[in-house]
Amino acid sequence: VQEKLSALKENTHNTVNSLLSELALEQATKVDTKIANGENIGLLEGIPFGIKDVYMLQGTYATASSDLLKNYKSAYTATAIQKLLDAGAIPIVKENCDSFGHGSSSENTIFGAVKNAVNPELVGGGSSGGSAVNVAKDYTVFSIGGDTGGSVRQPAGYNNVYGLKPTYGRISRYGLMAYASSTDCVGPIATSVEDIRIVLNTMSGKDTKDQTTYTSESIEETSILDTTGIKTVGYFKNFIESEAIDTQIKEDFLASIEKIKAKGIQVKELDFFKSDILVSTYYTLAMAETASNLSRLDGTNYGDRIDDKDLKESYAVTRSEKFSEETKRRIVGGNQVLSQGFSDEIYLKGLALRDAISENFEKDFEEVDIILSPVTPSIPPKIGDSLKDPLAMYLSDAYTVGFSLGQLPTLTVPQGTQTGLQVTAAKNNDELVLKFANFLK
Ligand code: GLN
Repeated sequence: VQEKLSALKENTHNTVNSLLSELALEQATKVDTKIANGENIGLLEGIPFGIKDVYMLQGTYATASSDLLKNYKSAYTATAIQKLLDAGAIPIVKENCDSFGHGSSSENTIFGAVKNAVNPELVGGGSSGGSAVNVAKDYTVFSIGGDTGGSVRQPAGYNNVYGLKPTYGRISRYGLMAYASSTDCVGPIATSVEDIRIVLNTMSGKDTKDQTTYTSESIEETSILDTTGIKTVGYFKNFIESEAIDTQIKEDFLASIEKIKAKGIQVKELDFFKSDILVSTYYTLAMAETASNLSRLDGTNYGDRIDDKDLKESYAVTRSEKFSEETKRRIVGGNQVLSQGFSDEIYLKGLALRDAISENFEKDFEEVDIILSPVTPSIPPKIGDSLKDPLAMYLSDAYTVGFSLGQLPTLTVPQGTQTGLQVTAAKNNDELVLKFANFLK
């Protein structure tokens, strides 16, 4: 713990929003005492981990990397984090990310752009960039990110580590600041399938404080090591034939497909919605939901406030000055798609498309066990570049957002290529995803 805290203090890659030194050392002493007394300790006991700065951990800062909440301290602890604490894991850092999860590069933050672990001139990815980079640099053993439309999987790919978006509802969202509640997922980032399995098992389960959660069975190590039983894999033809895909990513992906075929797996090409439909459906719903979720941040109950004689004016000035440009773009967009005269044409159409996307997945999983795709169509951009063109940034989420809308379990498996391979299974089949990741080894 001490070693990792000192490494994090240097903040070499802008991954640190706040260090939890005091709390961490206190916890570590407890584990030391247990060991000294000859007591048995659990798998996660004493293991240092990082937390994306959008989770509540009582008494510590929870800033969402935003100006508005930069002085805000959590009043309670998120269920997922509490479960890790109960298992003896030690939180050491709150991690830099795109403000409120809004972004794909971890540049939309008041703490400075997160630098990529492989090449610090490139972005760390987003929105859970600090979490993925900390794991890749071994500053944390694992980190807890949040994935609404790819925010765990994409930075995991950019930094060559594993990142899982579990089935929606497998892990409680209580205490995770809401971005788009219908796709928000708590997701672990780690350097091995085994670590992902352990952390996933610890955080999963029904929680009365999040009514979308369900009871799931613990995933056993032996069952994911037995990789027999996977017979068919599919991939979306239009993802690979798209003009937007980087040639190297396409070649690497097709080479992976050939390897899988050589191992005796049947591979099928599948049809899917076009990237621009996926991206516009996702952003319509995500913006609508975030506009609604963030309406509570007006400087009254949470965060900093800019006072004015007029109360309404106070709200307006606080929100105008303290939200980032990207967050404001989404609030304005979200309020527009929800407003009278637009909601039928845009928001309701988005909902209908989401249903159609889910139905498409259901049909696919009657034919194949696993769907594979690259995590992103392109490699990580240079720091500064994606800020110039928000639309291009939205389009770079083309391969991750569909699986979010389908609420499916999806894992980034690192390939050493700074993009990674995305492995998806049917709803509630998180075990199969981990099994397939072992099969790929
Ligand atoms: N890049 C996507 C967005 O900005 C996904 C972010 C996320 O998953 N939090 O919405």
